[in-house]
Amino acid sequence: MLVYKTKVDLVNRINNLMQPDFSLGFVPTMGALHQGHLSLVKSALSNNNFVVVSIFVNPTQFNSTSDLSKYPRSLAQDIKILETVSKDKILIYAPEIEDLYGSKVKSESFNFRELESTMEGNSRPGHFDGVGTIVKRLLQIVNPNTAYFGEKDFQQLLIIKKMVEAEGLQVKIIGCPTEREPNGLAMSSRNSRLSPEEYHESAMIYEILKTVKQKLNSDGIPSIYDWVLKRFNNNPLFELDYFQISDIESLVPVKEKLPNKKYRAFIAAYIGGVRLIDNIDLN
Ligand code: AMP
Repeated sequence: MLVYKTKVDLVNRINNLMQPDFSLGFVPTMGALHQGHLSLVKSALSNNNFVVVSIFVNPTQFNSTSDLSKYPRSLAQDIKILETVSKDKILIYAPEIEDLYGSKVKSESFNFRELESTMEGNSRPGHFDGVGTIVKRLLQIVNPNTAYFGEKDFQQLLIIKKMVEAEGLQVKIIGCPTEREPNGLAMSSRNSRLSPEEYHESAMIYEILKTVKQKLNSDGIPSIYDWVLKRFNNNPLFELDYFQISDIESLVPVKEKLPNKKYRAFIAAYIGGVRLIDNIDLN
């Protein structure tokens, strides 16, 4: 499988391949690919003639230099994994930083309003400007018909939809369900940094989210918050960053359940210095 290291080579190849009635799918990733990424690639392959998968650890979306330097990188293995899905319909774009940023590794400033002032936006200042910058740039280069993103990063998915609308980009954004490890932990490239014990304990995050969903039928939201905080306080391996029940469109946190509104519960927590996030649809 050919790997394109520059946008010029990638765009030339796309232009040669594309016929008038062909469609192009796009899956942006930071590599260290797992089944969660592959589920996006499979959706893209089943709905498009060709699929571009980008593999690029985007420096501007990291607010911690140690998180950036510890982020796993495994291009050779990623290529092998993608080949198990298709040998001739996938184009891999794995550029160096200069190809996307030139000499200025800097984010554009976006206004995502209430979508960015909560959860990941709160905990990771500048993160969504970095995400918006790189996704906008990649969409402008690849120019796909459809791009695929995981609901595991639900806030990111909403931010990207908003950015695409605000910038007038002609691309359809599709959200795909979260793929999980056998113990329920949401698959993530960061999971490879967990010890066996931490991996085992991390099952707690999705268990809590599933119980929150059940509890919402009978309990008030404040008592659900109390219960979740206690569960984390009782586990010395974890440090909870946030738990939040939010409206699924604005992501504004809610204190009471209202009819005709839809909600999602979100957790971010550290275990052994590894930041894990997950969420669940509560409707
Ligand atoms: P990343 O490489 O972490 O930037 O993720 C690239 C894309 O894969 C993003 O759209 C993520 O939301 C998505 N993704 C990551 N983990 C999962 C998962 N467990 N299930 C489904 N999609 C995922």
